[in-house]
Amino acid sequence: MRRLGGFGFPGADATRDMLRADVAGIDVPNRRFERLEGGLAVAARRPDGVTRVMVHEFGARPRGAQPGFADVADTWKRVTGEDISAGTPLWVNSFGDASRQAGRYRDHRLFLAGDAAHQQMPIGGQALNLGLQDAVNLGWKLAAQVQRRGPDGLLDSYHGERHAVGQRVLNNIRAQALLLLGSAEVEPVRQVFAELAAGSENVRAHLAGMISGLDIRYDVGPGRHPLLGRRLPHADITTTESTTTSTSLLRSGRGVLLLLPGDDARREELRTLAAPWADLVHTVTATSVSEGLAAPDTGALLVRPDGHVVWADTDGTDLATALNRWFKEPPRATGVPAAAPFTAPVTAPVTAPAPAKKNRRTHMNRLTGKTALVTGSSRGMGRAAALRLAQEGALVAVHYTANREAADDVVTLIEKDGGRAFTVRAELGVPGDVHELFLGLESGLRERTGTTGLDILVNNAGVMGGVKPEDTTPEKFDQLFAVNAKAPFFLIQRALKNMPDGGRIINITSGLTRFANPDEIAYAMTKGAVDQLALHFAKYLGPRNITINSVAPGITRNDNPVFGIPEAVEQMAQLSAFNRIGEPEDVADVVAFLATDEARWITGSFVDATGGTLLG
Ligand SMILES: Cc1cc2nc3c(=O)[nH]c(=O)nc-3n(C[C@H](O)[C@H](O)[C@H](O)COP(=O)(O)OP(=O)(O)OC[C@H]3O[C@@H](n4cnc5c(N)ncnc54)[C@H](O)[C@@H]3O)c2cc1C
Repeated sequence: MRRLGGFGFPGADATRDMLRADVAGIDVPNRRFERLEGGLAVAARRPDGVTRVMVHEFGARPRGAQPGFADVADTWKRVTGEDISAGTPLWVNSFGDASRQAGRYRDHRLFLAGDAAHQQMPIGGQALNLGLQDAVNLGWKLAAQVQRRGPDGLLDSYHGERHAVGQRVLNNIRAQALLLLGSAEVEPVRQVFAELAAGSENVRAHLAGMISGLDIRYDVGPGRHPLLGRRLPHADITTTESTTTSTSLLRSGRGVLLLLPGDDARREELRTLAAPWADLVHTVTATSVSEGLAAPDTGALLVRPDGHVVWADTDGTDLATALNRWFKEPPRATGVPAAAPFTAPVTAPVTAPAPAKKNRRTHMNRLTGKTALVTGSSRGMGRAAALRLAQEGALVAVHYTANREAADDVVTLIEKDGGRAFTVRAELGVPGDVHELFLGLESGLRERTGTTGLDILVNNAGVMGGVKPEDTTPEKFDQLFAVNAKAPFFLIQRALKNMPDGGRIINITSGLTRFANPDEIAYAMTKGAVDQLALHFAKYLGPRNITINSVAPGITRNDNPVFGIPEAVEQMAQLSAFNRIGEPEDVADVVAFLATDEARWITGSFVDATGGTLLG
């Protein structure tokens, strides 16, 4: 799944391993992680007479394949001097100290947990424990999402919380593997560790907390309460209904608002406040609690279904804010402040700045139920168009060529805004480009809608020339035409198989078909060719009520360094009647309009979106 999903899995291969076997018919002394001169040996005889042996020979490299019993017996002999070769092996196996972790635990609808997300030596039960805790962290969040009760960002908090924990555990396991399997050179470190552990309760508690995972503290918001972000401690609780334990309270899979013994008026106030969340958060009134929960100055605790405390009374935010952050605002809440923005770390940081104000406009949902493909939408105008179409309710395929991160960011942004999108990769202008793009597109559409219908195609991807006429080579010329003109033609040809009547095709061309720039002659030629698509296809597609139009931007801000030079920007701005340069959103709004039903009477047209540059 990792490979199919394109997840990176960086880390290190094994450099040491332990061989193990369950052997019948041998009689060797029990050994408990015994360090001998040549290696480490473990032997444990079970009541049924079978002995499990585990052995590592200092300095030996992993053999790269599963060992045979002869390998185990030979190594055992070299390390302990004992001959077990006459025994009957029942099970032979080895495990190494490889240490790898997926860079991300989430890619849209794919989540990694447990050994799928990390690979480690199974020391101290940590491999098992880490995977179980991944699952517990993710489970309730998925359930909330499935029931449409997950606040924005809740699913992303899975990576934010568990990846960091995984990193720490892997580090701890590597340290333990070193101390366990290192030869004489680790002896001094082992002695220092032994002294520290023997002499200090704090050190023992620290190591135990780390190995068990009980010391985890998630970043759950502001506040200094000692339990904030931590697991609810185990304690006996007497409630108004029964005698129970703090752990049992979590068995329902819901959150818990635990009202601790104290001020009755305050408890009533909190109970009333939380009442609208009753289906997601169980309010429990404790009449007494045992040590561990009797923290001073705590009137109440809000606990997530995975047992982590996310709010404590008299500290940090108010209860309503905490409830809204972890449990979606109830449909008809009264007297409750609006949902607070979710601020926990997210899987993929959104690198590009969100377009100002346009991104926050009210959703108009003019394209709800529609599907759209925007080529080249990982950045610039395409990105703005993808965001805009998604705001209108369309499911958007964000096409990109190379910059997957940027395309992922667009999808993340759309999803955060409540929209739907997925990425599609294909290099345009090369043989097989359209086929590749549609493979990804159709699979993405089918998965999300059950069909492969495509309502809106925005041909946006393009490459600029930037070469003087005398420097334009035939190769450059061909490349410009392949990407800018040929690809849109064949994308339209292919898209028409998926496009229902009433579909929309929008081609991003250029003001340069009307405004001279000698450095862009070949580029302008390609855009002139694209303008022709609208004219002729409009006639051809009229009977199907499919419209096709050209949108011609002028100078529009992108990541070209020239837009960072104020004098250049000022000079460019003077070309527009509005005395400013265009923003990608200026063009995206035009694209969105042409995609709606309101533009049904416009086809075959050239829409000047140059901000009055072509006025002369
Ligand atoms: C011999 C051995 C000894 C170990 N000893 C320890 C130890 O002492 N301490 C410790 O902490 N850890 C130990 N581990 C590691 C520990 O068992 C794993 O870390 C843990 O089981 C991982 O849990 P998981 O749920 O992530 O994956 P798994 O337990 O591997 O579960 C994955 C499940 O997915 C199923 N599956 C895989 N592909 C598909 C598919 N395509 N469709 C449907 N199902 C699929 C598999 O059949 C499996 O049931 C040991 C492992 C081994 C093999």
